[in-house]
Amino acid sequence: KYKGMSKERMMQIRKQNCNPMTMKVTSYKTPAFIHQGHMQWLWDVDGKRYLDLFAGVATVSVGHCHPRVTEAAVDQLKRLWHTTNIYAYPPIHEYTEKLASHLPDPLKVIYLTNSGSEANDLAMLMARLHTGNYDIITFRGSYHGGSPQTMGLTSNSAYKYPIANGLGCTNTMCPDVFRGPWGGSHCRDSPVQTIRDCGCAQGHCMANDQYIGQLKETFATSVPSRIAAFFAEPIQGVGGAVQYPKNYLKEAYKLVRERGGVCIADEVQTGFGRTGGHFWGFQSHDVLPDIVTMAKGIGNGFPMGAVVTTAEIAASFGKGVHFNTFGGNPVACAVGSSVLDVIKEDGTQENSLHVGTYLMTELAKLRDKYEIIGDVRGKGLMIGVEMVKDKASRDPLPPDAMNEIFEDVKDMGVLIGKGGVYGQTFRIKPPMCITMDDANFFIAVFNKSIHDFMERR
Ligand code: PMP
Repeated sequence: KYKGMSKERMMQIRKQNCNPMTMKVTSYKTPAFIHQGHMQWLWDVDGKRYLDLFAGVATVSVGHCHPRVTEAAVDQLKRLWHTTNIYAYPPIHEYTEKLASHLPDPLKVIYLTNSGSEANDLAMLMARLHTGNYDIITFRGSYHGGSPQTMGLTSNSAYKYPIANGLGCTNTMCPDVFRGPWGGSHCRDSPVQTIRDCGCAQGHCMANDQYIGQLKETFATSVPSRIAAFFAEPIQGVGGAVQYPKNYLKEAYKLVRERGGVCIADEVQTGFGRTGGHFWGFQSHDVLPDIVTMAKGIGNGFPMGAVVTTAEIAASFGKGVHFNTFGGNPVACAVGSSVLDVIKEDGTQENSLHVGTYLMTELAKLRDKYEIIGDVRGKGLMIGVEMVKDKASRDPLPPDAMNEIFEDVKDMGVLIGKGGVYGQTFRIKPPMCITMDDANFFIAVFNKSIHDFMERR
């Protein structure tokens, strides 16, 4: 139990001195005042325990205050916090070698940053300098950052401002097989399938043809004949764990490269084993990006990010000087290094696959039971539960109703996230150390909250 400032005082300060975003509908009516964390658990100032299934938006990868990561940070804090990377301090070499060993050839050159937005800004710059082209394409519904440049990649009105932004950024239709006009049962790569019938012919995905057709239309109408880049997350995060038809990225990459562009995988949420079957989300699409950006789970909550690319792209970029005061500082490198060790030692990626698949299978049973659960999807511990007014219309469940369930789940001791363009999707992306017992606990809580919600209607 926390004995410092009262909750009332914190609430006042929150209203007066904190970024007003913290008071918006994306948050709880009364926030959980979190004081302490350990692995998948959080405790509030009154000592109430929560199962954390949101992990600070997929950021706490191996567990809150994981003892070995904390120890690595403390050890480094005692030795050296900072110099510039003009000097050759050991941790940056130990770390970049280790991180590079997790990426396929020729993705071996690493630029360390402090956040995902910074990583994506850098990737935009690199793509433009390397290709000599300017235009970049991303999916509608995506979130790639909140900096003035990445705001153009981001395609969700909640994060847009009425200022000139996004010069040279075009958003194309997201190939969403649940909410989009085409798709259904077997189009995407997930242990559970949507109940929507896709009508695809055997062995051929017609939905994919349609969405690729939309991308071609974007090429024909909205960008010059040569482009700089195509950015895509392997599974859309803030967009609500949206998954694409199985071959979409493969075909899209080919079309982008034919137009001179580079392909960029934003692994900020999907990386570091979260999708279970692979270390990187792009691997399950059977593609090889030219640039990979990462953040969040890379540091288990420590602020860091990275851009990884090929020597060839790095050479085009290297004509100027790229400097970042804190990027790759010794403490970040020590933390990042221990996160990679822990993922291996704790079998975190395997656990993600095991518990994530079980969670999705159980959630799919609830989907079949309740009219307002439209879709359950994802891979590993990157899960979306899309809520609808009813299955026939697939209209998004309105924010008030979403909030009722969201608050109720919190009151029963579980923290989940919300996302999707209409705020209609619950997002489950916990620290990857959760157990089968935790999964069963959440299923019981979620079942009860939906059941009670339906009773109240
Ligand atoms: N890319 C993706 C996919 C993200 O989800 C986010 C953050 N939600 C970012 C980039 C931006 O990362 P940051 O907040 O660290 O700038």
